Amino acid sequence: LLEVTGVGKRFGSLTVLHDVSFALAPGEALGIVGPNGAGKSTLLNVVAGTLPPDGGRVVLDGQDVTGTGAAARCRGGIGRSYQVPRPFSGMTVFENTLVAASFGAGLRSRAAADAAFAALVTAGLDHHADTPAGSLRLLDRKRLELARALATDPRVVLLDEIAGGLTEAEVPALVETIQQLVREGVAVVWIEHVVHALVAVVTRLMCLTYGEVLAVGEPRAVLADPRVVEVYLGSTIAG
Ligand code: ATP
Ligand code: MG
Repeated sequence: LLEVTGVGKRFGSLTVLHDVSFALAPGEALGIVGPNGAGKSTLLNVVAGTLPPDGGRVVLDGQDVTGTGAAARCRGGIGRSYQVPRPFSGMTVFENTLVAASFGAGLRSRAAADAAFAALVTAGLDHHADTPAGSLRLLDRKRLELARALATDPRVVLLDEIAGGLTEAEVPALVETIQQLVREGVAVVWIEHVVHALVAVVTRLMCLTYGEVLAVGEPRAVLADPRVVEVYLGSTIAG
């Protein structure tokens, strides 16, 4: 479904990604961890088409989409959440999701409304459809972020710290929703510092440091890797 091969990215003289590769089939979930500044969000932006890579390829359904932008990737079946959600606070939860559904995928109005509502149901936020987005508590803002990622009915979902900042008690609800997506065959790439949430969902874990893949594989094995412990787990409060 998704193949990322040898991706590199520089900002001026700073190399942020170097030779990063992974592949994802339907119903697979890849977790990404790593210290702040490791290049995790940049990698997601390259996959989502918001940033062009300097090298490497992004292949979706066997087609090279490296040169395309975010709108085309969205129409191609990639949905994403943002590390820093910026909902339109004066609009309702439903309207925010509708914007994602209609602009993102270019759906016609009726189809967009149906897709938006379905995304709210999946994200567990339909009971707040008419609530102004600006008045949501953090968990529901996260749910809205998830709903916006799902509003285009994507086959690949990219999540950037969707559980970040939540209390211990709030995390399981979100984990369950993401598990359900994976069971339905959606491919998920999930960046998260709340490691126990990741481990509950992902089948593979990648640790990035300084833009390079330090370790990748079975989640428990990666977390037990002495290099990962040294550069990441040793320096983070990892749930
Ligand atoms: P965090 O865990 O803090 O979210 P991250 O792994 O997501 O970190 P990135 O946001 O990908 O890290 O950033 C990687 C590096 O690239 C950082 O040093 C950051 O300052 C730099 N960077 C990111 N975006 C830009 C940009 N648009 N221009 C210049 N430098 C950037
Ligand atoms: Mg980030």
